[in-house]
Amino acid sequence: MGEILTLGIDIGGTNLRMGVVNEKGEILSFSREPSSAFTEENAKDMLCEKIENHLAENGFTGKIAAAAAGLPALMSRDKKTVLSAPNVKGFDGLQFDESFEQRLGFPVFADRDTNFLLQNDIEKLGLHNEKNILGFYIGTGFGNSIFLNGEFYSGTNGAAGELGHIPTVGSDKKCTCGNRSCVETIASGKHLEELAARFFPQTDIKRVFKEHVNSPIINLFVQNLAVPIATEINILDIQLCIIGGGVVDMEGFPKEQLFDWVHFYARKPYPQKNLRLIFTKHNQQSGVFGSAVFAQKILKSR
Ligand SMILES: [Zn+2]
Repeated sequence: MGEILTLGIDIGGTNLRMGVVNEKGEILSFSREPSSAFTEENAKDMLCEKIENHLAENGFTGKIAAAAAGLPALMSRDKKTVLSAPNVKGFDGLQFDESFEQRLGFPVFADRDTNFLLQNDIEKLGLHNEKNILGFYIGTGFGNSIFLNGEFYSGTNGAAGELGHIPTVGSDKKCTCGNRSCVETIASGKHLEELAARFFPQTDIKRVFKEHVNSPIINLFVQNLAVPIATEINILDIQLCIIGGGVVDMEGFPKEQLFDWVHFYARKPYPQKNLRLIFTKHNQQSGVFGSAVFAQKILKSR
């Protein structure tokens, strides 16, 4: 038996990324292309074709044991059905069933992308012995992953951890999920873009923290980010929290301010007293790596 190779797949609204990873955690291949090739009709066929192409181009045809795909989506509890994927065409209702294995010769597992980002962070930050971890990923939306008792927690229907969609007082704005007043409407990259356009039209959005970190507008934005984070900490009493995403990665993002606000809102004396907030940084390969490692773990648990 040779070493076990798995394929990680990161399906986003903008890009489709793939890569083969070995048991040592080395990324042996990587590709990125626009995800615009997916349509309402062809998603499953197109995904299989893209997988076959990637493996052929990199010399891995017939050598893969399993794949895992991360999606910006609500997945069913058994991870077989995509319940809602508003940001990627053709994936609503798609079944991650045996048909993938029949065509490709290996199974394709699937889950929400944030779980695979947290899987990436668990590996990269050496958190293998931790049983309870919260992941907060602030990008265009507000992503969340709950790692509870050594497993990703998915709730009764698979819809746990929709932290961006808890209701909040002070916003009546319509959210992409269809509801109103979701915390994501005031705590997300999308909202930061609105703020920047309205209050700092002269500033390149990339520099908005660097140039306006002391503005009350930015202070309130950072305070709003801390509210859902502290809310989940207070409900679950989990002390280890990973915070990342495109917004947090921006130049001059006031990490200390966010840190202070999370501590401000966390219940005293616990869970506030021994909170561990760790800031993480992702790259193009993070989602692919987390997915591939997850596939390795499923294979080993069988
Ligand atoms: Zn919402």
